[in-house]
Amino acid sequence: APAETPQVVIDAHGLPYLNPKLPVRKRVADLVSRMSLEEKAGQMTQAERGALTAQGDIATYDLGSLLSGGGSTPTPNTAAAWAKMIDSFQLRAQASRFQIPLIYGVDAVHGHNNLVGSTIMPHNIGIGATRDPGLAQKAGAVTAAEVRATGIPWDFAPCLCVTRDERWGRSYESFGEDPALVKSMETIIQGLQGAANGKDLKDDDKVLATAKHFVGDGGTVYGSSTTGSYTIDQGVTKVTRQQLEAIHLSPYQTAVDRGIGSVMPSYSSLDILGDGQGPVKMHARADMINGVLKDRMGFDGFVISDWAAIDQIPGDYASDVRTSVNAGLDMIMVPYAYKDFRTTLIDEVRAGRISESRVDDAVTRILTQKFKLGLFEKPYADTSGASLIGSPEHRAVARQAAAESQVLLKNAGGVLPLRKTQKVYVAGSNADDIGNQTGGWTITWQGSSGPITDGTTILEGMRRAGGDVTYSKDASAPTGGYDVGVVVVGETPYAEGVGDVGNGNDLELTAADKAAVDKVCGAMKCVVLTVSGRPQLVGDRLGSIDALVASWLPGTEGDGVADVLYGKRAFTGQLPVTWPKSESQLPINVGDASYDPQFPYGWGLTTLTKVPAGGTSTLKVLALVAEAADRTGASEAGRAAVAKARLLVQQKLASTITPATAKPFADADHLLLTGRYAAAVAKLKEAYLAS
Ligand code: BGC
Repeated sequence: APAETPQVVIDAHGLPYLNPKLPVRKRVADLVSRMSLEEKAGQMTQAERGALTAQGDIATYDLGSLLSGGGSTPTPNTAAAWAKMIDSFQLRAQASRFQIPLIYGVDAVHGHNNLVGSTIMPHNIGIGATRDPGLAQKAGAVTAAEVRATGIPWDFAPCLCVTRDERWGRSYESFGEDPALVKSMETIIQGLQGAANGKDLKDDDKVLATAKHFVGDGGTVYGSSTTGSYTIDQGVTKVTRQQLEAIHLSPYQTAVDRGIGSVMPSYSSLDILGDGQGPVKMHARADMINGVLKDRMGFDGFVISDWAAIDQIPGDYASDVRTSVNAGLDMIMVPYAYKDFRTTLIDEVRAGRISESRVDDAVTRILTQKFKLGLFEKPYADTSGASLIGSPEHRAVARQAAAESQVLLKNAGGVLPLRKTQKVYVAGSNADDIGNQTGGWTITWQGSSGPITDGTTILEGMRRAGGDVTYSKDASAPTGGYDVGVVVVGETPYAEGVGDVGNGNDLELTAADKAAVDKVCGAMKCVVLTVSGRPQLVGDRLGSIDALVASWLPGTEGDGVADVLYGKRAFTGQLPVTWPKSESQLPINVGDASYDPQFPYGWGLTTLTKVPAGGTSTLKVLALVAEAADRTGASEAGRAAVAKARLLVQQKLASTITPATAKPFADADHLLLTGRYAAAVAKLKEAYLAS
């Protein structure tokens, strides 16, 4: 607890809501029954912490929550400073009539990414590439432990967006283009929150998670005649009801089943084809928030708006407040004009345009999570886990994630893995840059190039792996008896919007990157790594590249990338999104009628050496096991059989990809994710026979 003593207005001890032995439901009901409308409206208000005109406003306006969001700067840069800052806010909340603790929220979307020295995981697109639900859960657990140890109980993650067009600048926040893949990675919710019933939330290493952005954020249409080509972020998702259900909504049912504590609606508008409504902002959609999320799916947590998102609803501010709260929003990320919001909400209730029961429902939902988090018993930071921040144990998880996320797209002549005896020439803009390899949402909202936090770059990882490495960023003089060149290219950091604007806002490599690839690949055998939030177009250059690796945004542990490059671990990652030949193919997604990408969804070669021997006859046996698993639901056996079958086929396909083999291979992947093991093996067999 902080040194300063809280100024307690009334001694609330003895009231039922403060009795930890009572069930949460009773405590909430007791507290809500005592609260004034002003206090309830305050609970529904979330302010940006820098917007506070005075810290005393926390108690004066009964604020329910504060945040440090993407737009907030600067953030503290040590764990102790975070804890101290949040405690100083909690101290003020303790001076309110009922001593209701604040719930403080941050975007920890790939580790505690606001904090220098924390463990930074690969961004979600890399986690999707791992196809490893257990790993996703472990990554969530590391994030939760580091976040909670700085006094923060609430995380605006995970993003459940299903990215359908990688011109969207938030594609890297997505686990992938297939809803089945996104659903399989929702184990991260258990990593963050613990058990689905919320009983672990009070632990000092768990946080409340937020599924975002409900719904259709990854499905916005690129370009529009009215607003130009930049509408892909916060734009319009045009879908049939069936597409909406299957692609974008289904991951939310999984999140609800996993006990997700909060949900954030999307800035985007939803246009359900044929329903006659046209595009309607998600924050105004009662049919989706009240109707689908709360009533149909049974979501019992609370809905937090996105940053100032209600301001985008057409109409004056009173109508923004009324429309969003009546649509089912429980707390509004205002984030600046918190006094206006609270007053407007109170006025709307007094005028009868928002019912008191709607307000009571919202406050009940918010307080329920605060009680579950144990904040009434322990409002101040418990920093006992702070020594684990950036610890070797945590970094080992991030390293494993970085390694598993690497997707080997091409490996002609088996150039990978590298051998320590080889002379390796490393070049390229992203070989030695922690900032670029962690991407956006790292230390600052947009992220930035350079040594912004602790970790190892890919180059450092290769050196530590014992490689005989020479480095030149711009690939000057790439001659002189090297065995292999490794060129690490890609994007510079960005968050939201359309992506790497400075680099031309497209999936093209920069001129400098192209020059580095051409120089090195023209002079020696070469491996190209793309460190980026989305596929990078290599086009015809692929012919001159011996090995191509999609590295995504691997995080602080460049060692993990070096692990697969030097064969300490095998490449096992698979494409979470389709890799196009050209920008004109976008949007391109598995299942499209005409599908002719450079690499299909699910593609990924392996350097595993222990591949089961045998051809079609082995596949036959595996098919039988998978079939039995299909029928009995014995997923373990089925999954293992299909994994073996997959390796066998991968080995056979080696680095030759034709449409005839790619399609069934990708289909198999989808079937595997949806638990149809026998059908998956049949597709693998088809790919095997076509190769
Ligand atoms: C983003 C959200 C984020 C919020 C708070 C918004 O701009 O869309 O994903 O949680 O800011 O930082």
